[in-house]
Amino acid sequence: MKHELPKLGYEYSALEPFIDAATMEIHHSKHHATYVAKLNEALDKHPELYDKSLEDLLASLDIVPEDISVPIRNHGGGHFNHSLFWTMLKKDKEPLGIESFLQPDFSSLDDFKAKFIAAGISHFGSGWVWLVRDKDRKLKIITLPNQDAPISLGLTPILGLDLWEHAYYLKFQNRRAEYIENWWQVINWEEVLRRLEM
Ligand code: MN
Repeated sequence: MKHELPKLGYEYSALEPFIDAATMEIHHSKHHATYVAKLNEALDKHPELYDKSLEDLLASLDIVPEDISVPIRNHGGGHFNHSLFWTMLKKDKEPLGIESFLQPDFSSLDDFKAKFIAAGISHFGSGWVWLVRDKDRKLKIITLPNQDAPISLGLTPILGLDLWEHAYYLKFQNRRAEYIENWWQVINWEEVLRRLEM
């Protein structure tokens, strides 16, 4: 089955004023839609791979056919990352119950926040900053370039933030730090907690 653009489950304006409706609409209906279209375009060359889940493809990039491994990494990664990203956004959620999961890897929620934001600000160019869990169930903050997905590195994503300029330039221009502070106000902590509990 061909991959499809998932519905947001909320209005483009739902995260105003922290993330503006115009950015959300272009980000979802243009950028994310293009990743889906280009992923399908690549898989059309090897339609048997439509039977595999996106997670399986991204987790085994080294064994997918060489002629489409780069498009799967970029566009499949883009589809995967953005599909997650939309579920991690919601207004008026409090980080209830989060802190106990962050310890001992982080001393407190504030410690985690400071490190996550610093990593997001200092990442050079396009990419993502993630809270991930490794195979030993240790939590860590990483940044990845482009649309590389944590699952390609065997890491389980818990929380991710898109650092591409397309995610913030309309409203914040070059002010990435301001974008990240605003994004912090619309984290869907219920979804983060659900992922921490898995
Ligand atoms: Mn994006």
